[in-house]
Amino acid sequence: MRTVHDRGASDAPAAGRRPKLRAVPGHRLAGLPQLAGADRRLRHEIEVVAAVLPFKVNNHVLEELIDWDRVPDDPMYRLTFPHRDMLPPEIFDRISALLTGGAPRERLAEAVAAARRALNPHPGGQLEANVPRLDGRPVPGLQHKYRETVLLFPAQGQSCHAYCGYCFRWAQFVGEPELRQSLPGPASALEYLRAHPEVSDVLVTGGDPLIMSTARLAGYLDPLLGPGTEHLRTIRLGTKALAWWPHRFTTDPDADDLLRLFERLVAAGRQVAVMAHISHPRELAAVGVRAAVARLRSTGAVIRAQAPLIRHVNDDPRVWAELWRDAVALGIVPYYLFVERDTGASSYFEVPLARAVTIYQDAVRQVSGLERTARGPVMSAGPGKVCVDGVAEIGGERVFVCRFLQAREPDRVGRPFFARYDERATWFDQLRPASFERRPWFGAGAGLAEAPAAV
Ligand SMILES: *Cc1c(COP(=O)(O)O)cnc(C)c1O
Ligand code: SF4
Repeated sequence: MRTVHDRGASDAPAAGRRPKLRAVPGHRLAGLPQLAGADRRLRHEIEVVAAVLPFKVNNHVLEELIDWDRVPDDPMYRLTFPHRDMLPPEIFDRISALLTGGAPRERLAEAVAAARRALNPHPGGQLEANVPRLDGRPVPGLQHKYRETVLLFPAQGQSCHAYCGYCFRWAQFVGEPELRQSLPGPASALEYLRAHPEVSDVLVTGGDPLIMSTARLAGYLDPLLGPGTEHLRTIRLGTKALAWWPHRFTTDPDADDLLRLFERLVAAGRQVAVMAHISHPRELAAVGVRAAVARLRSTGAVIRAQAPLIRHVNDDPRVWAELWRDAVALGIVPYYLFVERDTGASSYFEVPLARAVTIYQDAVRQVSGLERTARGPVMSAGPGKVCVDGVAEIGGERVFVCRFLQAREPDRVGRPFFARYDERATWFDQLRPASFERRPWFGAGAGLAEAPAAV
């Protein structure tokens, strides 16, 4: 496959050629021509898993990102295509039997609904928690967990160009309406932000907010330049568009308008940060990305790269080292290496914290200082963003050295704390205080039950 260095300064599609977006939904994946020569069993497995979990790819993913010679082990394929191990065996077998036996529609739908309920669509209650109030009324589609940062979830941005198998938004992608928490329009967000001068950062997220037209996005962002918003210094956009559809920034009909929007925000003194979800270096080497990055940077926006560590996709220090090197070569700043959350097909993708620490450290050692700006492995947990800095031995006890990068209670930020080393732990709630930690880590108001005191 290509690397980022194989491309010249401009790799935009030739003038006058506009790549046209074609989306392929989950139920059509098994019938794709690229899989025509594949094992029949593989295609059946795709069908079974896609009946339960949401999938979607587009022509960029199919034609530029997946290496079909390496399927089914190719990392981009693993990231976006159904795999039988994504479902617990008993669920897989039940749905498989119903499909093979030609069960009536309603019976299949019932089994699918039951399977989805069993797969934890609400990780950590994040969407329902942290919803702020304005004059006593909740403002759905807003989250205010950290003093200086407010998250906006515009309703029209609650989708994505392609779906990562681990996406914690999957309940929304399968359209369960009670799980949707989104902003119908900019008015309530603007009112809330005006009333909160302590907020400096607005983070527009989704799904992917860049799935919205520029006109819609401008409807949310232009008001942030109006009176009463002077305390907002930074506008971040969490997006996978650079990886899934780089033409959003180059040849799409409203790409130029998007760049003008960013220029307006920058000219008004705001930092525009494009928080690009980049899972694998191959995403940066694909056609159109170099041109998209150059155009974005020309607006004064800063692009930062972040992604979770995902088994079968990027659980290899060489992949992260290459990703960070290539990102910096393009002018993208590495930001976070996340730990994947406990939702959906999580056991298929999860990597134990102990291994995540090793992968992070081995990757960091391979790159230069400027390429070491990503922090990780980081968990976005109830009380805050926890980074596992390493493993140490203290007083004969093996521990994880942890630190809050962000916390509901700001005075916790930066303070190290220690957890018992646990080779199998994959998430914060499985960690226990080291035996020498006198107090439980988290007091009242931390948002999580207190960790049990050490015995
Ligand atoms: C990561 C995150 C933020 C942003 O945190 P930074 O450390 O400022 O990048 C804000 N809100 C939530 C809920 C987050 O998970
Ligand atoms: S890019 Fe983000 S929003 Fe889109 S499917 Fe992946 S994790 Fe979900």
